[in-house]
Amino acid sequence: MKVLISGAGIGGLSAALCLLHHGCEVAICERAEKLDDIGAGIQLPPNAMRVFAALGLDGALTARAFKPTALEARMGRSGRQLFTIPLEDAAAQPRWGAPYLHIHRADYIAVLEAALRARAPDALHLGAEVSGYSQTEESVRAHLADDRTLSGDALIAADGIHSRIQGQILGPQQPRFTGSMAWRATVPMPLLEQKSAADKPRPTACVWMGPGRHCVTYQLRGGALANFVGVVECDETLDGTYEAAESWAARGTPAQAIADFKDWHPTLTGLLTEATELYRWALFDRKPLPKWVDGRVALLGDAAHPMLPFMAQGAAMAVEDAWAVARALTNSLTGKNGAPQNIEPALTAYQHQRHARTARVQAGSRANAKTFHRRSRVSQIGTYAPMWLVDKLAPALIYQSQDWLYGYDVTYDDAYDKIEAGS
Ligand SMILES: Cc1cc2nc3c(=O)[nH]c(=O)nc-3n(C[C@H](O)[C@H](O)[C@H](O)COP(=O)(O)OP(=O)(O)OC[C@H]3O[C@@H](n4cnc5c(N)ncnc54)[C@H](O)[C@@H]3O)c2cc1C
Repeated sequence: MKVLISGAGIGGLSAALCLLHHGCEVAICERAEKLDDIGAGIQLPPNAMRVFAALGLDGALTARAFKPTALEARMGRSGRQLFTIPLEDAAAQPRWGAPYLHIHRADYIAVLEAALRARAPDALHLGAEVSGYSQTEESVRAHLADDRTLSGDALIAADGIHSRIQGQILGPQQPRFTGSMAWRATVPMPLLEQKSAADKPRPTACVWMGPGRHCVTYQLRGGALANFVGVVECDETLDGTYEAAESWAARGTPAQAIADFKDWHPTLTGLLTEATELYRWALFDRKPLPKWVDGRVALLGDAAHPMLPFMAQGAAMAVEDAWAVARALTNSLTGKNGAPQNIEPALTAYQHQRHARTARVQAGSRANAKTFHRRSRVSQIGTYAPMWLVDKLAPALIYQSQDWLYGYDVTYDDAYDKIEAGS
């Protein structure tokens, strides 16, 4: 089976690798002339690492990543800890089956690109923008902006939040601007070394919560870089102070970011003071899409289920999708002489398998914005005091609450074994 893929982000590259692993041929079209080296840190949770372990890439990713000691939540101003989930605890890795990592997006892409080039040297087409598709009973064609076409048995659209193929399947969508902006920065750790031990970014994934805003801090590249993400409810975007762009490349100034986190904990203001490059991403919300599939074409990753970044799961969901769609298409190889059959039912089964889980993560991410940004004293006590109490009295409950997310193993989900392709 030959599968075409539009987009070589984390979702498209993972899909290519999973399809190769399952014995398919792939051609992946990326509109950029070279793969992105922009962006900052990404959390790489155990549910995504399971897929990379199955692909034999866990070692390469771990070598370029940072292993946090814990996930924790703190109050943004005082730094008071609300709860912690130790990851070094002998229980954490066996419980979720793989490590929790932080990685620079450029390093993540580099590992996936190198693996793809090693396994299928001619599969990646750079400078190849997919403008649309057409299909017959027998095949699907990807039409490129420069008038070339590629033909295959199926087409996977991993072309991100502004997916052209999603537009062709569903028509224009109207994302809702949330009124929030995400600041992103990385700072070399040696610049922060002179700070007091209490003020240095910790070797954890830490969410700092406060009225109308929150931050996430963690380390990258073996602890050489500190990563900062700060989300602010900011009406300025609406009155034109900022351009409301969903972009890894849109910039802001350190002074703007420092003003947004004035009076917050010295770990955060210290990080922002040392940051020379600050990127900002306007956060838009989208409802789960009703339809991911049109005949031989299916959406994957942000093209299928764009989500707010408040569970740090967008890329991880794309990686899970990648395994699921490869498995579904492989199961469709039931025709005479192993010829591809029943592509549409296989892709529909993929959507059925993935839709509820990704919609749950989309909803959870939306809800986290409210949890992290409680404004009144009463709502803060009502939300954060129970977290603190559970952490002190029944910490096992905090692990349990994350099992559905981090403990899920798409590589062992046998849903497809129970679905006969075509039924
Ligand atoms: C502030 C912020 C923090 C985040 N933190 C995390 C985190 O910690 N963990 C996590 O898992 N996720 C995180 N995410 C989400 C994550 O970045 C996305 O979910 C993920 O990058 C989606 O991958 P994708 O491959 O679906 O899309 P993209 O990464 O957008 O890739 C799409 C690719 O398709 C290409 N393309 C687009 N159109 C075309 C076309 N017409 N033809 C050919 N190529 C095309 C693009 O150039 C790009 O290379 C975060 C997001 C934000 C905004």
